[in-house]
Amino acid sequence: MQCESSQELKGLIDEAKIYTKDGQVAQYIPALRDADPDKLAVAVYYPDGSCYAAGDVRHKMSLQSISKVITLALALIDRGEDVVFDHVGKEPTGDPFNSIIKLETISPSKPLNPMINAGALAVTHMLIGNTVEERFERLLNFVRELAGNSTITYNEEIAKSEFETAELNRAFCYYLKQHNVINEDVEELIDLYTKQCAIEVNSVDLARIGCVFAMNGIDPVTDKQVIPASVVRICKTFMVTCGMYNASGEFAIDVGIPAKSGVSGGVMGAVPHKCGIGIYGASLDDKGNSVAGLKLLEMMSRKYDLSMF
Ligand code: GLU
Repeated sequence: MQCESSQELKGLIDEAKIYTKDGQVAQYIPALRDADPDKLAVAVYYPDGSCYAAGDVRHKMSLQSISKVITLALALIDRGEDVVFDHVGKEPTGDPFNSIIKLETISPSKPLNPMINAGALAVTHMLIGNTVEERFERLLNFVRELAGNSTITYNEEIAKSEFETAELNRAFCYYLKQHNVINEDVEELIDLYTKQCAIEVNSVDLARIGCVFAMNGIDPVTDKQVIPASVVRICKTFMVTCGMYNASGEFAIDVGIPAKSGVSGGVMGAVPHKCGIGIYGASLDDKGNSVAGLKLLEMMSRKYDLSMF
């Protein structure tokens, strides 16, 4: 990991750190409960391959919902837009990520977008491969390629812990199966999904992946087009409209960058044409966003004029 430590970012971390006291770490996945709520890290990755960071940058976090953007990109590459949007919609819900309420009220019955759990499960279902292992391996290799880090793997304990407790996600799957959105074995899909959510990265990895999205799919080091620009455009639009759970509207006003958060406390930002941002701060607000991470992004957006609006 090549990333210079930055005094300027350290100043922002020191300022934002007091807000970690305003939230708490995710409780509903047992293996996430022991996370240290005081840790805070930020990394910024630029298109020329330079990187600046501050705080607990080596600390690993599971991707959780951040993985939803990456699986969406892979499913769009694998299956194309028409098939993907046959299974999942394009509209924000304004509801929590694990809400079931709108699934029943819309017609045809498909999840409203790929960033809520029901939609993400429908997307994971579309990943190509003959077995769960094969599909997961492809996803993992894709994450490794985007992060430029071949050592990335998943945390077995977190995956197992979520697998053993994911009854609500199972309920979504059965609902989707009843309505022909998915047609695979539910336990297999939950196995794949919980492994996907347990892929572990640090803030630098996240910032680098964010940078690929910021640069419309071009790898900042190899200059290779690793995701088609048309796919990145769709992913970034979802990041703006529903990437920060049901706080996405507020985030668009206060910060104004495409971003995706996860309940482990990670946030991945993609500032169009400028940089990728990776944040870790496990203390969450009541919507599931890193409470100090949000403050940090707000400060950075103002200081560096990052808002795209
Ligand atoms: N694995 C988590 C779940 O499905 C991801 C949720 C999140 O990060 O928002 O509940």
